[in-house]
Amino acid sequence: MSRVSSLHRLQEIDLSIDRARARLAEVEKLLGASDTVRAARASHDQAQARLDAAEASVRDAELAAATQRAKLENAERSLYSGGVHNPKELQGLQADVDSLRRHMSSLEDCLLEAMVALEDVEARARQAAGQLDQAEAAQVTEEASLAGERSQLQARLATLDTEREAALAGVAEKDLALYARLRDSMGGRALATLQDGSCGACGVGISAGERQTVRNSAELFRCPQCGRILYAG
Ligand SMILES: [Zn+2]
Repeated sequence: MSRVSSLHRLQEIDLSIDRARARLAEVEKLLGASDTVRAARASHDQAQARLDAAEASVRDAELAAATQRAKLENAERSLYSGGVHNPKELQGLQADVDSLRRHMSSLEDCLLEAMVALEDVEARARQAAGQLDQAEAAQVTEEASLAGERSQLQARLATLDTEREAALAGVAEKDLALYARLRDSMGGRALATLQDGSCGACGVGISAGERQTVRNSAELFRCPQCGRILYAG
C-alpha cells in the first residue's frame, strides 16, 4: 500500500470513529431524559389534585344537604303533627318550614353544580392518566431501542479501534504527524480525493502534471490551496 493509501485508509477509519462517537454521545443524552414523560406526569399530578378537590367539594355539599334535609324534616313533623293549635305558632312553624325549604333548594343546586364539575374533572384526570401511560410505554420502547443502538456502537468502536491499530502499522511516523496536524486544523479531514481534476475538499483545479504526481509519486502531494494531502482514489 502506498503512503497516501495508508493514510487514506487511516482517515476512513478515523471518520467512522468520529461518526460512531458523535452518535453514541447523542444516544447517551437521549437515554438520560424524556421531556414527554416529565410533562405528562406533571399534567397527571395536576389533574389528580383537581380531582381530589372536586371530590371534597361534592362530599361537603352532600353533607350540607343532608344536614339541612334533617332540619327540614324535623320542622315539617312539628308543623303536621297536629300537636300545635295556636295559629300564631302554626304560622311561625310554616314560615320556618318555607325558609328551610328555600335553603334546602339552594343547597341542592350547589350539590348538583359540584357533581357536574366533578364529572368534568374526572374526565380530564382519565385523559391525563391515559396520556401518561402512553408516554411511559413509548419511553420504554424508545429506551430499549436506544440501549440496543448503544451496544452496537460500542462494539463497532471496539472493532474500529482494532482496525485503526492495524492501519497505523503501515504509516510512517512523520506522515502520521502531518496527518494528525491536518486533521486537527481541517475539520477532521487531512486528505482530499481528486475529483474531476480538482481538490475534492476545496475545489481548486489541479493541473495534469500535478495529478500525475498525485497518482504516481511516492511522495505526499498537498493541495496548493487548502493544504490537504491529495488522494487519487
Ligand atoms: Zn484543496
